[in-house]
Amino acid sequence: MQRSKRMPSATRKPGAQAPLCMVPSCGRRAYARGLCQAHHRQHLTTGKLKPIRPYRPRSAGTVKFSGLRLSEKAAREIDRKAAREGLAHGAVIAKILEEWGRDGAKPPAFARASY
Ligand SMILES: [Zn+2]
Repeated sequence: MQRSKRMPSATRKPGAQAPLCMVPSCGRRAYARGLCQAHHRQHLTTGKLKPIRPYRPRSAGTVKFSGLRLSEKAAREIDRKAAREGLAHGAVIAKILEEWGRDGAKPPAFARASY
């Protein structure tokens, strides 16, 4: 028996616009049940649909680090401090934030936002 032709994919036709998230003013591509990935996750975990708070925008000189987007310098300093003190990156970040919150002290210069 001859192999049948491959069935056309159930997804959109080539060139068609990707469907967008049904949440007004979201603008992300729909992922499941008419919702983008962020709103789908939000709906599953909270049962509600609210605007998604924006991440820090990607920009030159920033890197993904421990679930955050940091300057390359901050990531390097945290990595060094973690190695020196035998701590996880998250523990170093927590220490920096806690020091910052204590007595109105300023965070170390490398940890200050520069955008
Ligand atoms: Zn959305």
